[in-house]
Amino acid sequence: MLDTLHRIVHAVNKAPDLQSALDVLVRMVHEAISSDVCSIYLVDDASRANVLMATVGLAPKAVGRVRLPMGRGLVGLVAERAEPVNLADATAHPRYIRIDDTGEARFRGFLGVPIIKNRRVLGVLVVRQVETREFQDEEVTFLFTLAAQLAGAISYARASGELDSLTGGEAPIQRFLSGQAGFAGVAIGSAVVTYRQSDLQSVPDRRIDDPERECRRFQRAVAQVGEDLRRLQARLGGELPVEDQALFDALLLMLESETLLLQTEETIHSGLWAPAALRETIASHARIFDEMDDPYLRERASDVRDLGRRILMHLEHDQPREIDYPAQTVLVGEDISAMQMAEVPPERLAAVVSASGSSSSHAAILARAMGIPAVMGVSEMPVSRMQGRTLVVDGYRGRVYVDPTPAVLAEYQRLLREERALGEEVEAMRGLPSETTDGHLVPLYLNTGLVSETQEESLAEAAGVGLYRTELPFMVRDRFPGEESQVANYRRVLEAFAPRPVTLRTLDVGGDKELPYFPVQEQNPFLGWRGVRISLQHPEIFLTQVRAMLRADIGLGNLHIMLPMITQVGEVDELQLLIQRAHDELLEEGHAVSMPRVGVMIEVPSAVYQAAELARRVDFISIGSNDLTQYLLAVDRNNPRVADLYDELHPAVLRALKMVVDAAREFHRPVSLCGEMAGNPLATALLVGLGIDSLSMSVGSLLRVKWVVRSISRMHARQLLTVAMRMEDAAQVRRLMESSLDELGLGGLIRPGK
Ligand code: PEP
Ligand code: MG
Repeated sequence: MLDTLHRIVHAVNKAPDLQSALDVLVRMVHEAISSDVCSIYLVDDASRANVLMATVGLAPKAVGRVRLPMGRGLVGLVAERAEPVNLADATAHPRYIRIDDTGEARFRGFLGVPIIKNRRVLGVLVVRQVETREFQDEEVTFLFTLAAQLAGAISYARASGELDSLTGGEAPIQRFLSGQAGFAGVAIGSAVVTYRQSDLQSVPDRRIDDPERECRRFQRAVAQVGEDLRRLQARLGGELPVEDQALFDALLLMLESETLLLQTEETIHSGLWAPAALRETIASHARIFDEMDDPYLRERASDVRDLGRRILMHLEHDQPREIDYPAQTVLVGEDISAMQMAEVPPERLAAVVSASGSSSSHAAILARAMGIPAVMGVSEMPVSRMQGRTLVVDGYRGRVYVDPTPAVLAEYQRLLREERALGEEVEAMRGLPSETTDGHLVPLYLNTGLVSETQEESLAEAAGVGLYRTELPFMVRDRFPGEESQVANYRRVLEAFAPRPVTLRTLDVGGDKELPYFPVQEQNPFLGWRGVRISLQHPEIFLTQVRAMLRADIGLGNLHIMLPMITQVGEVDELQLLIQRAHDELLEEGHAVSMPRVGVMIEVPSAVYQAAELARRVDFISIGSNDLTQYLLAVDRNNPRVADLYDELHPAVLRALKMVVDAAREFHRPVSLCGEMAGNPLATALLVGLGIDSLSMSVGSLLRVKWVVRSISRMHARQLLTVAMRMEDAAQVRRLMESSLDELGLGGLIRPGK
C-alpha cells in the first residue's frame, strides 16, 4: 500500500494544475482500492458548499454541478465531524440525500474521509461500492493517509484563487499564503525565483521572447550531453559488464528520442525558457516510469531525471545573460540562503519569501539587517510557478498575496504610504540617545557578520557590535581561512567601531550552519556537534581564530571575545586557558597583544541554571534568545511546521531571562541580549523591565527599538514585566505587549496602518 500511496502522491504533485491533479487522484484511488466510485468534493467558501470536483464512477456531467450546501448529506456529515464516516448502507442513514444527477442511487457502501489542513476541512474524499458492506480498516487508513498528504496542494489552490475559478465561486475572496513573519514591513513587487544550480525540480518558469535562439541553446546542450555520454562509455567500455554498457545505450537512445526533443522544443515555442521546458518534459517522462508496476522499469525514472540534470548543467553553463532583477524584486525560493540574497543588487531587493525556514533562520536575520520584509516557511507555495507573479508581501503578519486583486493592492499601497510616513518618524530617532523617559540608558549594539558591508549611518548609530558572527567568512570558502586573512577581517570591524566595543563570537558552526569542507553528518545536528563543542575537540581551529582576534586588536583595545553554546562550566575553563595560551604565545612571538574581555552566551537551559557559576568566571554575559527559545521550548527554530510554537514571549523564556539577570547581578557582570528578541519592539519593555543592560540587534531594528525605549519609563517597563510574568502563555503576553505599544501610539511598529 505504501508504494501505491507514494505513486499517487507523486503523480498528484506533478500534475500541471489542480483539476488534472484531482482527475489523476480519483482515477488512481479508484484503481488502488477497487471501489466502484471515487469522488472528491472541495469546500467553496464563497457559496458555502461542498462541490463535486472530480469523479470516477458517477456521471461525469455532475462534476461542478453537484453543490451540497454545508452540512447537507453524508459529505456534509464528514466535513462537520472532521473524521471518516464508514457505512455499509449509506441509503439507510438519516443524513443520506439522493442526488439523481449523479447516478449514485445503486451504491450502498460509503466511505468519506475529510481533507484537513491546519485544523480546517478543505474537502472530502469519497469511495462507494455497490455491495452493502463497510470498507475495511486498511482502506480507511489508506484514504486517511492520502488525504493528509494532499491537503498541502489543495490549500495552495485555495490560497492562490485557482480553486475559486474551478468551483465557479462568484465572488473570489482574496486569500493568501501563510508563513512566518520575518522582518516587519510591506512590499509590492515581482517574484524572481532563485534556485539551486543543477536542481531540475526547482527550476522556475521564465518567459522568453526568442524561442528559436532558446531551441538552439537546448540542442547544443543535448549534443554536449551526448558527447559526454559517448566519451564516458568509451572510457569505461572495457571495464563495464555488458548490462551496464546497455545502460549507456539506453540513455543515449532516450536523449536522442524524438519525444524528448520535440516535446521540449514545443514547450519552448510556447514561450518558456529551456530549463523549465526541460523540467516539464523530464517530469512527464519520469512520471510514466514512476507509475509502472514493474520495480525494474520504475527505477528507470531516476535515469530519466539524471539525464535531465546533465542537460540542465550544460544549459546553465550556456546562460544567455545575467538575471534581470526588476526594480522591486521579491526573491522567492525553496530555501533561500544568505548567499542567494547577496546576489541581488540591494537597491532592487524589496522582499524575501522562502518556502522553508523560519523567522530565526539566517536568511530572515539578514533580511532584518537589510531592513526588508520577509516571510519564511511558506510551505504551500509552488515555487516553480511563481516567477514574474505580482506579490504583496506582508512581513508583519507573515502573509503573501499572489496576483492580488485590485482591492488588496489598493489596501497595501495605502499601507506602504503609511509605512513611509512611519519610516520618517523612525528616522527622526537617528542621533538621539537610547534612553528611557526617566533618563536610563539602554545602549543598542549591532549584530553583524552576515553582511560584509555595514552602512555608514548605522555605524554611527550603534554603541558598538554586540555580536559579530564569525561563521560567514568560514562558510564562503573552500577551506578554513588562515590566520592572516582572519586578522584582516577582524581588524576591519574592530577599526570601524573603535573605541566602541566589538564582540567577536568564536566559531559557531554545526546546527544549521555547515561548512562545505567540514561536513558533519548527524541525526540531530542542533543537539550535536556545534559551537564550542567543535572548538574543544579541534583546538587548532580555535587557537588560530583567537590568535587572529588578538592580533587584530593590537593598538585598538576594543575586542571582546564571546563563547557560544556553553553547556558546562568546564568548557569555559578550558577555553579560557586556550585564550590565555594564545595570548602568551603571541607575546613570546613579539606581538604587543593584550588580554580581551571574555564572555559567554547563555543559550541553553543548563547555562540558565548555572548562570551564577558562569558569571563568576567571565567578564560579561550575553543571552542568545534564538537558541534559548529553541532549546527551552523544544522547537526547532528552522522548522515551519512547528513555527507557531516558537515564541520568545513564552513565560518560560521570560523566567529564564530573569534567572540569568539575577545571577549576573550577583557578580556585578553586565548582561546583554543578542538574539532576535532584542530587535522585537514587542519585547523591548520587558527587556528593559528585566534590567538587561544592553541590547544587540540587526541594523534594521535599531531605530525602531530606540523609539520604544524613548517612549517608556523604567517604572512602566517593570510594571509590564510584573504583569507578564504572572501570565500563563505566550499569547497572553503578546496581547499585553501589543496593547501597550498601541497605548504608546507605536502600534505601527508591529502592525501596518496602526
Ligand atoms: C542566538 O542563538 O540567539 C544567537 C544570537 O546566535 P545565532 O542566532 O547565531 O545562533
Ligand atoms: Mg545561537
